[in-house]
Amino acid sequence: MAQHSFFKKGFENAQNIVLNKADLCFDDLPEEFEGKSKDMGYCLPFLILFSISVLRLREVGENDFKNGDLIVLNDDHTAMIYQVQNPYVFKIQRYSIHDGPGIRTTLFFQGCPLSCCWCHNPESQAMPLKINMEEMDKVAAFLMEEIEKDLIFYDDSGGGVTFSGGEPLCQPQLLFRLLDLCREKQIHTCVDTSGYGEVKTLLKVAQKADLILYDIKLIDETAHKKYTGQGVDLVLDNLKQLSKQKAAVRLRFPLIPQMTDTDENIGRIIAFLKENTIYRDIHILPFHRAGQGKYEALNIINYMKDIQPPSDEMLAKVKEQFESNGFSVTLGG
Ligand code: SF4
Repeated sequence: MAQHSFFKKGFENAQNIVLNKADLCFDDLPEEFEGKSKDMGYCLPFLILFSISVLRLREVGENDFKNGDLIVLNDDHTAMIYQVQNPYVFKIQRYSIHDGPGIRTTLFFQGCPLSCCWCHNPESQAMPLKINMEEMDKVAAFLMEEIEKDLIFYDDSGGGVTFSGGEPLCQPQLLFRLLDLCREKQIHTCVDTSGYGEVKTLLKVAQKADLILYDIKLIDETAHKKYTGQGVDLVLDNLKQLSKQKAAVRLRFPLIPQMTDTDENIGRIIAFLKENTIYRDIHILPFHRAGQGKYEALNIINYMKDIQPPSDEMLAKVKEQFESNGFSVTLGG
C-alpha cells in the first residue's frame, strides 16, 4: 500500500476554483488551458451516477460556466468542470434504508475534511461555496420541499431524513437551519458524521437532531492519518463529549479489509469505547465496491482497486469480537 499522502494527488496538485461568474477572471487560467477543443465524454455517466454533469475540457471558455461551478485543474493539463445542480448538497437519495431507522431521504452535503481511501463519494470531498443568508433561505426552502415529498414514507416506516456527506458539519449554518425546520415539522432527523468537526458544532447538532450516526474507523493516530488524511484525536475527543452529554448516538464501524479489520484496531476501539463512552451498540459497515468507478472518472488514485469486500467469516469474527465484549452488533447501517 502506497502512502496515503498520494491519495488525493488529483486534488492536491490541482487548483480548485469555486466560481462566482461575476468574479471570474479567465486571465488567471494557465496557458495550457487555452485551446481549441472540448471532450464531453464523461458527461453522461456522471449525470446518471451523481446528478452532476462533468465536462472534461482541454479548453475552457466563458460560456461553459455558470455560478457555483467548480473547476479542478489537474497537473496533467486536464480540467474538470463540475456543474453541480446544488453546490451545497450534491445528491438527494430517496428510500434509503441504511442511513438510520425506517425509510429515509438522505441529503449528501458537499465538502469533507477527510479523504478516506475507501470513500464511496470522492466527489464530495471538495469544499463547497460559502453560503450567504439570502442563498441559505433559498437552498433551505428548496431542500425542505424535497424532504417533504416523502413524508408518507417516514410516517409509515418510522423513518425521516438523514444529513450525510461529505461531512455535514462542514456546513453548520445550513445543517442547523434544516434540523430546525425538520423539528418544526416533526420529521425525524439523523446526522451522519465522521466526527471530524468543531466540538461546539457537534454538541449543537446533538441538541437539534434525533440521532447522530458516528463513525469510528481507526484508533491509531498514524493509521488514521494514513488512511483518512487526518489524525484521530479530534474524533475521539468529540465522541467523549457526546457521551458526557448522553447524546443519542449510533456508532458505525466501517470494516475495511487490510485497513480497519485488524484484531489490534478492533481491540483498541472496544477498549476506548468501554473506558470513555456510554455507547454499547455498534453497526458494522462492511466495505463494498459501489462507487469505485468514480475514481477513474475523477482521475484520482484508487487504493481499493484490488480489495474485495470482507468474507462472511471475517464478518462473523468481528461481530463476535464486539459481542464478547458486551456490545450489541448490527451488520449494516
Ligand atoms: S468521512 Fe465519509 S465522505 Fe469523508 S472522505 Fe471519509 S468516507 Fe468520504
